[in-house]
Amino acid sequence: AVSLQGVTKKYGTFQALTNVSLTVAKGERVVICGPSGSGKSTLIRCINQLERHDGGKIIVDGAEIGARGTRLPDLRREVGMVFQHFNLFPHLTVLRNCTLALTRARKMPRAKAEEIAHHYLARVRIPEQADKFPSQLSGGQQQRVAIARALCMNPQVILFDEPTSALDPEMIKEVLDVMIDLAQGQMTMICVTHEMGFARKVADRVVFMDRGEIVEAAPPEDFFNTPQNERTRLFLGQIL
Ligand code: ATP
Ligand code: MG
Repeated sequence: AVSLQGVTKKYGTFQALTNVSLTVAKGERVVICGPSGSGKSTLIRCINQLERHDGGKIIVDGAEIGARGTRLPDLRREVGMVFQHFNLFPHLTVLRNCTLALTRARKMPRAKAEEIAHHYLARVRIPEQADKFPSQLSGGQQQRVAIARALCMNPQVILFDEPTSALDPEMIKEVLDVMIDLAQGQMTMICVTHEMGFARKVADRVVFMDRGEIVEAAPPEDFFNTPQNERTRLFLGQIL
């Protein structure tokens, strides 16, 4: 579903991604971890072109993105994104947050969009919060709205960038439970997270990044039990 081939990205003269290659098949779940500043967010943001890469290729669902002629709205409807800080529209209700892209970008009738939104709000276990505003919800509930909003677009793949790291401990589990549920439902997922329990449970592969490069990628069992690279071992020693 998503393929990166030799992707590079610079911010000015700083090389944030160096020759990153990663292919994520349909239905596959990949967890990305690595130290702060290693390029995890940059990688994720290049996939939906919140940042433009400056070398290599990114192919989503058969089409090269960033190439001339790719339309960002078409890309963004295939690639859902869930951020650390939820990024909900504060002035819109939960329901409207979920329906906005459907009615605006997809020109769907409002009643149909609301039906879809209610379906996914139930799926993330907050069916009763539809008429509230984001500020009236807990962090965990807000993040589940953000997940429901992404699901409403029926994307090919959902990208998660540290979705639980801004949450209080008691709310982390409710968000992870929803993510586990999605993973078990065969959603294609690329998740930047340091929740290694989640990685062990649902990831098909764990990718370790350091200084803008993919240092190691392996199924969780191998990744955690027999990491091959010294930098991976050092990192795991610090976080486990
Ligand atoms: P964290 O775990 O702290 O979220 P990360 O692995 O997501 O880190 P990135 O946010 O991708 O790291 O940043 C990679 C590097 O690129 C960092 O050194 C960062 O300072 C730099 N960087 C990121 N965004 C920009 C930007 N817009 N302009 C300049 N430098 C940037
Ligand atoms: Mg980041």
